Amino acid sequence: MDNKLLISLTEKYKAPLYVYDAEKIVSQYKRFENAFNQVKSLKINYATKALSNISILKLLKSLGSNIDCVSIQEIHLGLKAGFNPKQISFTPSGVSLEEIESAVALGVKINIDNLEILKQFGTKHPKVPVCIRINPHIMAGGNKKISVGHTKSKFGISKYFIAQVKEIEKETGMLINGVHMHTGSGILDVNVFLQGAEILFKIAKEFENLDFIDFGGGFKVAYKENDPATNIEEFGKIMSKRFNEFSKDYGKELSIVFEPGKFLVSESGNFLAKVNVVKKSNETVFAGIDSGFNHLIRPMYYGSYHHIVNISNALAKENKYTVVGYICENDTFAEDRMISTIRQGDILCFKNAGAYAFTMASNYNSRFRPAEVMLYQGKDYLIRERETMEDILNKQIEVNIDL
Ligand SMILES: *Cc1c(COP(=O)(O)O)cnc(C)c1O
Repeated sequence: MDNKLLISLTEKYKAPLYVYDAEKIVSQYKRFENAFNQVKSLKINYATKALSNISILKLLKSLGSNIDCVSIQEIHLGLKAGFNPKQISFTPSGVSLEEIESAVALGVKINIDNLEILKQFGTKHPKVPVCIRINPHIMAGGNKKISVGHTKSKFGISKYFIAQVKEIEKETGMLINGVHMHTGSGILDVNVFLQGAEILFKIAKEFENLDFIDFGGGFKVAYKENDPATNIEEFGKIMSKRFNEFSKDYGKELSIVFEPGKFLVSESGNFLAKVNVVKKSNETVFAGIDSGFNHLIRPMYYGSYHHIVNISNALAKENKYTVVGYICENDTFAEDRMISTIRQGDILCFKNAGAYAFTMASNYNSRFRPAEVMLYQGKDYLIRERETMEDILNKQIEVNIDL
């Protein structure tokens, strides 16, 4: 995105600021859709938790997307954004039976990820179709913190428990209408994905009344130059062929479902923060910005790389900086990173700030969460106001204890 435009937005809306390029979301969505143009029925269930601003959800809705939600609150957001309950699936992890029942009452499709709740749910609601989330026990994803399909992962019903699922289905008279897996974020290797897919196909064969198979999300995008990313076109081609074969073998035209989050929104996002101070300390030069892990926690929590551009001085000579936040804890965005000369007041732009960025922001240190802006065809739309002291005090109750 154009640096001048981004700087002008920090003048208009102040920093720190999240800016999303709607056109990038549109093009990623179309790429995904095109990659699977050889299957009869493709459903894209955007993973809401990646970026859940209601205007972004509306944009995805107008593209024809469905959504996947992981909480009842995300479901309410989706309904508010105008999605039909039939376009919403609920894939929670370890939530209460009551929460699943509330989702069903809203007309949403559900995924269940453990035998205990499956049995309780099936006994009470044998008429409601259920999709089961399988743990295929494969190691996928960029690292253990974001891989959710490995042996010790809490997610899903173990692939070794299929006999028990079938027994529950028979006993309760419920209907299993889909099988699901989501093995983690940052999947790169098409072969690893296919390996998981084969496990799911094998399980799918055990159930006679499926309408769809859901392969989750986890597609990787480039976080820096030359960073490898999922080749969605190649993946789509191979996967579609295999899926069509399976469908034929199964004897029914099944839908293929995916739940991309990061793939659709990561690259659309730019996080803009102002430099408060440039401070030399022994060997290290610190650039202290007017933000911290309260606004973008991925570098600290996952060790994620976010490319940083000094958009106020992009053409200047590069020096080594450690970019840190203002939070009173370990709050390092980047260590000894080459960035063009940073001066007090410059605006730094963090790339790939669309997914798991704002949605993971907090009010730690009683700071305000930033504003969000969406750009479309050169026009900027404020889609969330910056918080104020009122938001910090909202819901707090003042109690005076007389001592
Ligand atoms: C988070 C999540 C996704 C999306 O993962 P990405 O890595 O963002 O594509 C998909 N499905 C489920 C069930 C999830 O929890």
